[in-house]
Amino acid sequence: MSHRSFSWMTVAITLALGLAAPAFADLCPQCRNRSHTKDIGSCKLCDGRTNSGEFALDMDCSDRLQECEQCRKALPPKAPKFNEKQSGIHKYGRWVYEYTISNEGSKSEGYYGKLSYFGRPIPEPADINDHLRTPWGLMHWVGQPAVAFGSHGWMLQPRPSRPLGKLIQPTASVKVP
Ligand SMILES: [Zn+2]
Ligand SMILES: [Zn+2]
Repeated sequence: MSHRSFSWMTVAITLALGLAAPAFADLCPQCRNRSHTKDIGSCKLCDGRTNSGEFALDMDCSDRLQECEQCRKALPPKAPKFNEKQSGIHKYGRWVYEYTISNEGSKSEGYYGKLSYFGRPIPEPADINDHLRTPWGLMHWVGQPAVAFGSHGWMLQPRPSRPLGKLIQPTASVKVP
């Protein structure tokens, strides 16, 4: 096999694995302690197959909305905490959070957060401080100020000068077909 075809194969395999990132569906602590019927149900949101006839959501919707598969309560954040003093790309299942610090150490230090699910950026919400659940906890849309200084995009902390917005629940169309 030539080097060239080998590297293409590696790319193809990497892509396939990336898209096949597991859905980190989960149950809330209360539901995890119960026993569940072994039948299959259908998801109330997308008609996908649930892991038990007693569950409201399938694994995709549970992961995307960070809600318990059974009772739809918010799941506690599961991803390891990251250092907000350092730029980094953080991945958890299908979720990716890209955090960048610009002009580090200067007076105009800026913070940029990009959030995507299943290979697609989460669409810009209507209002500042609209937020969604992620494996790292609530992420807030703080807008895209023209100045380099301060926070931009998706941040763990809401913009303090503005009221808290509404909860965004990404639709299934955010998924790669
Ligand atoms: Zn579903
Ligand atoms: Zn539950």
